[in-house]
Amino acid sequence: MKKHNFYAGPSILPEFTIKNTAEAVLNFAGTGLSVMEVSHRSKEFVAVMDQAIALVKELLNVPAGYQVVFIGGGASTQFCMVPFNLMKSKAGYLNTGAWAAKAQKEAKLFGDVIEVASSKDANYNYIPKGFDVPSDLDYLHITTNNTIYGTEIKTDLDLGVPIVADMSSDIFSRPIDVSKYDIIYGGAQKNLAPSGVAFAIVKEGALGKVDRQIPTMLDYRTHIDKESMFNTPPVLPVYAALQTLTWLKDNGGIASMEKRNIEKAGLLYDEIESNKFFKATVEADEDKSLMNICFVMNDEYTELEKDFMELATSKGCVGIKGHRSVGGFRASTYNALPKESVEVLVAAMKEFASKH
Ligand SMILES: *Cc1c(COP(=O)(O)O)cnc(C)c1O
Repeated sequence: MKKHNFYAGPSILPEFTIKNTAEAVLNFAGTGLSVMEVSHRSKEFVAVMDQAIALVKELLNVPAGYQVVFIGGGASTQFCMVPFNLMKSKAGYLNTGAWAAKAQKEAKLFGDVIEVASSKDANYNYIPKGFDVPSDLDYLHITTNNTIYGTEIKTDLDLGVPIVADMSSDIFSRPIDVSKYDIIYGGAQKNLAPSGVAFAIVKEGALGKVDRQIPTMLDYRTHIDKESMFNTPPVLPVYAALQTLTWLKDNGGIASMEKRNIEKAGLLYDEIESNKFFKATVEADEDKSLMNICFVMNDEYTELEKDFMELATSKGCVGIKGHRSVGGFRASTYNALPKESVEVLVAAMKEFASKH
């Protein structure tokens, strides 16, 4: 049976990415060797890294003065690299979820952290708005998409201070104005590649302002100056990232992804709203994520949760169990998820309603 992959991360990748990467594992760029056993300094692999960086810049219209780097260690290493490199004395953090809180915790090792707002009081089911932002912050850190709770900041914020954004789970899903950010970063394993690599888009003018010594590997400057080749990069994830970026470009780029993502999420949110057995955990439409759609059984039907899980599983839906801190269901509708998969889940919800 065809599987419909709704996992939150690692998560679905384009078939194009999986096939080309599988092929390169056997025979990379006609070398007769695996991409896993070729020097990262070979001309073939240097071309992969160069093209991946160039495609990120092209797809996101990255302006002059910004650099793109690929770094091991996932998004969680970025939680400490950001304050290490940018925090002189004081940074703001918007606490919209468990990942945001983890980023905030790391920053406290480096100076004063101001929590400008938090939605923890309501299990992070909304995005705080209208909060004060001190004008003397070195930066304000936001998490644009809260993978666990299904909330998303879908616009570029203008708050009068430099913004740093964790975009692990919504990068490449909608157009963004990179010039509004000092750093955009994320782990690759939600919308780009297998785990093992993080991306960062760094405004060069934001670097070099802190007095502290930065260990070489944690200094963005190192990775920029050496074009992500200071040490051995995660070659296989970077190769896969290049395939996904190529697929994005061949499929109309980011604007076209956004259109598809709005359509897919709309199908599912509409069904959640009209089906009396279910309800979305996020109430405000403008806060609802287009990437991770969280829903639970309506209060009077909570004992039917297992039944729906069984039905959806029997239709091939995989990975729809909600995160333990939210419960219920979470359908992740990343770029690579076809509309057909959402239609199968929606049909299962309709069938469930007609059977009960
Ligand atoms: C998954 C995720 C992370 C953690 O990524 P790692 O690469 O595992 O460190 C951080 N932030 C967000 C928003 C995520 O979805």
